[in-house]
Amino acid sequence: MIVILLGPPGVGKGTQAKLLCDKLGFRHVATGDLLRAAKREGTELGRRAQAFMDRGELVPDDVIIAMVEELLGALDPEVGVVLDGFPRTVPQAEALAEALARMDRKVDRVLVLTAPDEVLVKRITGRRSCPACGSVYNVHFSPPRQDGECDRCGAGLSHRADDTPETVQNRLDVYREQTEPLVAFYSSGEAPVISVDGDQSVDGVQAELASAVA
Ligand code: AMP
Repeated sequence: MIVILLGPPGVGKGTQAKLLCDKLGFRHVATGDLLRAAKREGTELGRRAQAFMDRGELVPDDVIIAMVEELLGALDPEVGVVLDGFPRTVPQAEALAEALARMDRKVDRVLVLTAPDEVLVKRITGRRSCPACGSVYNVHFSPPRQDGECDRCGAGLSHRADDTPETVQNRLDVYREQTEPLVAFYSSGEAPVISVDGDQSVDGVQAELASAVA
């Protein structure tokens, strides 16, 4: 099964995708995480993506599509996948459909998480993550026990370079302009689209997502 998790920055896609994958034994494919890893490792891909990411803009479609196609091609076709942060534009969605058709697969569900902008801004600017184990915290809603330190592994927490108030508005605008049209794209018969209110507890959102893929 191929599941797409759509939604604006800060709505909880990463947290929910990880939980869903743990529950279902699916593979979590998060293009933002892959690009941040490439940046850290200083690869050619990371260097190309950095300026776009720091400004809160989308990395060019051809770069992203090549990265995801390579990854999907290497996956066991029996394993389910949750796509988090991809596709983000209609050309990416079209390229995904073509790549999946070549593998005899298709998008089975599109889950759309929603939340008001003021909630998203607070979640994004308060977000801190652990570079070592990937745990995510929020200084307003779910702070670590020790300021700036990961509860799970003790590593120092980091603040994403693009989680600043200056880039947040741009990322929300980019989402509305370039990514939200995907809801109409998939609703026109490409795949079942299910909307879930992301402005509720983590467990509440997870329960609705899990029943949507059951
Ligand atoms: P995310 O972690 O999903 O919020 O992504 C962080 C940043 O990575 C985005 O603001 C973009 O600059 C870039 N990015 C991630 N996924 C994509 C994608 N599918 N298309 C273009 N840019 C992307």
